Amino acid sequence: MSKTIAVIPGDGIGPEIMTATLRVLDALDCGLAYDFVDAGMVALEKHGDLLPPATLDKIAEHKVALKGPLTTPIGGGFTSINVTLRRHFDLYANVRPAISFPGTKARYENIDIITVRENTEGAYLSEGQTLSEDGEVATSMVRNTRKGSARIVRYAFEMAVKKGRRKVTAVHKANIIKTASGLFLNVAREIAKEYPQIEFNEMIVDNACMQLVMKPEQFDVIVTTNLFGDILSDLCAGLVGGLGLAPGDNIGEHAAIFEAVHGSAPDIAGKGIANPCALLLAAADMLDHLGMVEKGARIRQAIRDALVHDRDAVTPDLGGKGGTQSFGEAIARRVQA
Ligand code: ATP
Ligand code: MG
Repeated sequence: MSKTIAVIPGDGIGPEIMTATLRVLDALDCGLAYDFVDAGMVALEKHGDLLPPATLDKIAEHKVALKGPLTTPIGGGFTSINVTLRRHFDLYANVRPAISFPGTKARYENIDIITVRENTEGAYLSEGQTLSEDGEVATSMVRNTRKGSARIVRYAFEMAVKKGRRKVTAVHKANIIKTASGLFLNVAREIAKEYPQIEFNEMIVDNACMQLVMKPEQFDVIVTTNLFGDILSDLCAGLVGGLGLAPGDNIGEHAAIFEAVHGSAPDIAGKGIANPCALLLAAADMLDHLGMVEKGARIRQAIRDALVHDRDAVTPDLGGKGGTQSFGEAIARRVQA
């Protein structure tokens, strides 16, 4: 089988962690071909455009992209590249797995939570934000639609079935935000009936925050609206030890973009010490998406094993003495074994 994916190395530590990640994919023998495309500061310098049309065309053509972190210059009126990509391809599902790994300084062990965040509506609309002329009154709109709610909830349930998960928890604030959050909750209840094999649970967002911190083991898949999902997915990343191991998948009907949640980390760029695991875990999710579930699982297991047995190769952020290359090599060796 040969499948071509678009690869965006990205800014800052992007090229370093991408090299390590592709090395592991090659070691896995995935039969993937890479079409390298530019975006971010690299693209601005080379083509005078943060997101060149050719890059968008390649992502559309291959339907799957693996993406390093991108920097959007502050000021100068640039729209965030990540937001532009999400809108352009209507990447409505932001999927954020939070998995415990051994040998990390996390507060909990045995956490395996996937947050499925609606990524196109809710409180994150570009329109409907107003400020009165005297600057005294600011208004912003929340809009959920039946269609938008249905497709995200359905995505969460379908993913639960495919990945053999047992429970979906819909997180909402329908008791206060009665119309917008109420619509989301009602739709979630309706769709849940179509999946009797998956346990359905609903939880108000404030309680969900407390429960996540006190009893995180009770969660499996969380599905929620844009703003709550943004916050809860970072909370979940914190439960398992932070952003170094946090992948983010952006899924639409016609394209899917897999990335690390962290940014370009300019403070450590070029030093060879960036942790490649978040991007590697995104690559593992990409393999799942492409139907190579066994290979995705091998990446996660190899990371687990390397964290325990190859401490000298592990990057400093996880307490090791190694660098991007040594950590990547250790993982590449283990996926082959
Ligand atoms: P950006 O502007 O691109 O969002 P940032 O510096 O604001 O970059 P992050 O890149 O998310 O935000 O970095 C936050 C902190 O975490 C930095 O100190 C960075 O060095 C560290 N960090 C982020 N990613 C990694 C990584 N993969 N490995 C090691 N440290 C990382
Ligand atoms: Mg940042």
